[in-house]
Amino acid sequence: GSTIGILGGGQLGRMMAIAALQLGYRVIGYAPEGDNVAADACSDFITAEWDDAAARARFADACDVVTWEFENVPVSTVAALPEGLVACPAKALEVAQDRLSEKAFAADLGGTPAPYAAVTSAESFAAAIAAIGTPGILKTARDGYDGKGQWRVRSALEAGALAFPGVTCIYEGFVTYETEFSVILVRGADGTIKFWDSTANFHEGGMLALSVLPAGALVEAQVAQARALAGKVADALGYVGVLTLEFFATKDGPVFNEMAPRVHNSGHWTIEGAATSQFENHIRAVCGLPLGGTATRFASIEMRNIVGEDGLRAHAMLAEPGEPHLHLYGKAEAREGRKMGHVTRVGHALG
Ligand code: ATP
Ligand code: MG
Ligand code: MG
Repeated sequence: GSTIGILGGGQLGRMMAIAALQLGYRVIGYAPEGDNVAADACSDFITAEWDDAAARARFADACDVVTWEFENVPVSTVAALPEGLVACPAKALEVAQDRLSEKAFAADLGGTPAPYAAVTSAESFAAAIAAIGTPGILKTARDGYDGKGQWRVRSALEAGALAFPGVTCIYEGFVTYETEFSVILVRGADGTIKFWDSTANFHEGGMLALSVLPAGALVEAQVAQARALAGKVADALGYVGVLTLEFFATKDGPVFNEMAPRVHNSGHWTIEGAATSQFENHIRAVCGLPLGGTATRFASIEMRNIVGEDGLRAHAMLAEPGEPHLHLYGKAEAREGRKMGHVTRVGHALG
């Protein structure tokens, strides 16, 4: 087929669509009303609610294959699309949309999450604090991203002052780690898996700020174990496309944090920095094409997010030394804490 449908309209879809265009595909996007910056790179963009059956039928008719760039597309929307149209089983969304289910899924396959408990009432919150202790983090089980829907709990006193938020949550013990890292893989429809190098990821206010390679000795020592888990997760889901697992590198080994059934912010460096980018390999996987190599092309790489008002002045960065590679997402409004773009800087070329 030659038309790819993308569910979701954010910057991940935009960069996915750019990669698809380069390979000669047409792209049709679908998302509810919003700042759908993927639309600029799409031949057609359907703006409709996820449960709009007529719009969904129009989308399905126009597409040869469907993928997503957003992990919170309702499972019911994906399930309602014609059999065989969606490249990856909806089970991946189902598992990853809920922090409790993704942690249980990873633990079943041998992964180690932080100690955690479900919080569904004031009583179960108190029980979770008693069982796991403080410090910890209370997170909504669903819909959180960029650190939103999270409450740090430093002490039992603080826990006592924090009301149950009224939606299902997870309480996690606070992990003492040296570095955060992510495993990003692509899995083809034939089950072939390739991994990109793992960056060290640095967050500010719960949001990714910076990803760097090399990631350091501790991460390098733990990547094999983290990859083994990520590969098992991908196989168990029958996954097709790019899948990301986030980890904490601790002195006791890699602790699984969460998974994203999609291309990932910490993989943006692959556009310039790897033999094939995460976006291109995602498109290759969903289209059944041979996957490209994932080798890192430079001795050092850093990818920095451009957030909020900085996005309005970002072109000025091009005057800086070191050949910064600038990517802006075309967002109409520079709200505080909003990802507006990113910049990648690379060191000297390898081999
Ligand atoms: P994303 O934007 O990556 O989807 P998110 O909102 O889903 O983020 P998490 O990744 O769970 O949230 O948490 C955001 C950040 O908060 C983590 O990258 C980490 O820096 C910190 N964090 C989360 N959980 C823990 C924990 N249990 N112990 C220590 N730090 C944590
Ligand atoms: Mg998340
Ligand atoms: Mg995260």
